[in-house]
Amino acid sequence: MIPLATARAVVRPWGTPLPAATVPLAEAAGCVLAAPAPAAVAVPPFANSAMDGYAVRSADVAGAPVTLCVVGLVLAGSAAGAPVLPGQAVRIMTGAPVPEGADAVCMVERTSGGTETGQGTVVVEQAVSRGENVRPAGADVRRGDEVLGAGVEVGPTQLAALLSAGCAAVLVHPRPRVGILSTGDELVDAGGALGPAQIYDSNRPMLLALVAEAGGTAVDLGRSPDDVDALAARIGGALGTVDALVLSGGVSVGDVDVVRIVLDRLGGAEARWMQIAIRPAKPFSCALLQGPSGRVPVFGLPGNPVSSAVSFELMVRPVLRSMAARRTTERPRWTARAAAPMPRRPDGRLHLVRVVLAAPAPAGGSPGRGEPEAAGGSVAGLGVGPSGWLARPCPGQGSHQIRSMGLADGLALVPDGDGLSEGDPVEVLVTNRALGG
Ligand code: AMP
Ligand code: MG
Repeated sequence: MIPLATARAVVRPWGTPLPAATVPLAEAAGCVLAAPAPAAVAVPPFANSAMDGYAVRSADVAGAPVTLCVVGLVLAGSAAGAPVLPGQAVRIMTGAPVPEGADAVCMVERTSGGTETGQGTVVVEQAVSRGENVRPAGADVRRGDEVLGAGVEVGPTQLAALLSAGCAAVLVHPRPRVGILSTGDELVDAGGALGPAQIYDSNRPMLLALVAEAGGTAVDLGRSPDDVDALAARIGGALGTVDALVLSGGVSVGDVDVVRIVLDRLGGAEARWMQIAIRPAKPFSCALLQGPSGRVPVFGLPGNPVSSAVSFELMVRPVLRSMAARRTTERPRWTARAAAPMPRRPDGRLHLVRVVLAAPAPAGGSPGRGEPEAAGGSVAGLGVGPSGWLARPCPGQGSHQIRSMGLADGLALVPDGDGLSEGDPVEVLVTNRALGG
């Protein structure tokens, strides 16, 4: 067996960012910018009102209260209209262009006697200074300015920032295209009827979803029978279409564990089979295979569903994140406390125990899952950070018991030895997205 860190060091160098490509903004979501994105237009593109009120000449209202003659109405989207001359005001709504001559906006709440018609007179009750409630052109971003820099991940708000500045296309590191292929003669696709000795292929849909969650583009390559030639042909055919390949099953020492054999055959010296000092997910194989347009990392994960998920988390996900040039490649790690004992025997391995995370009980209250305020110290009722959480092991820790993985918020790292007592600190790899994993 080799330590987990040694195993990870083998595959880590395969995670080099994919070459940058220019894509339309609509396709950039979830990608990382490979170069600074310059603004095509200023934001805002024109001086506009920050308030509903009256556009005025600030000098006119210095001695407020003062009555002005209302000479027009501008709404968001309408033209600024005639200039505001001394003694005049224009009724203006938020986002509407500030007419020439005006240099400030009085909030409607600080006026009286005005109407929605944009005619008549208005009494400005309070003076405004030059520039007050006016958003000057380019106040947020000037034309040609860097909107966002290289290395920024394009999420919803980044998209909005780029869109507002008129960026039509950006240079990004593309998401890696990751093929998923499961092996196993016993497998049936979801929805099919189970014959004798058959089970549903749960790993393939799980891995497709894990790839997507990690920021990759998942490519479903179906299933291969447990046959060396068939599997070799499937892998060979996929190499030209993906940036990485993830296989499930067949990496152990069973009679039909063909992934190991095939990767050895195709990968030569670059193929590795490992027994990693962890539980679950001990067996793992991998290879860097030559495809038509470059070398493709191939990962062979164990077939037991929990092992497959854990192996993906520890061995594959960080590499895929690096290929996408993501700033964070690892799931967050919290130091929690064991809510119940986590017994184990010394076996030279790190145990990854599926746990549910809960905030500690408030004084006199019940334990609060999803009630982070209960931990105290909340700012503005927005909850607290990851300290003080309790990790409770899920029932059913066998590597075939995927249900408990479905219940778990994370994997507690229980080091080699005799296990943990209730209350002991324990590192937890947080896998639940809802908790920030
Ligand atoms: P293997 O790694 O191929 O020896 O498989 C180990 C265990 O995982 C066996 O009980 C398999 O039936 C099961 N298994 C393998 N592949 C899958 C899969 N895609 N979905 C669910 N279970 C699987
Ligand atoms: Mg198998």
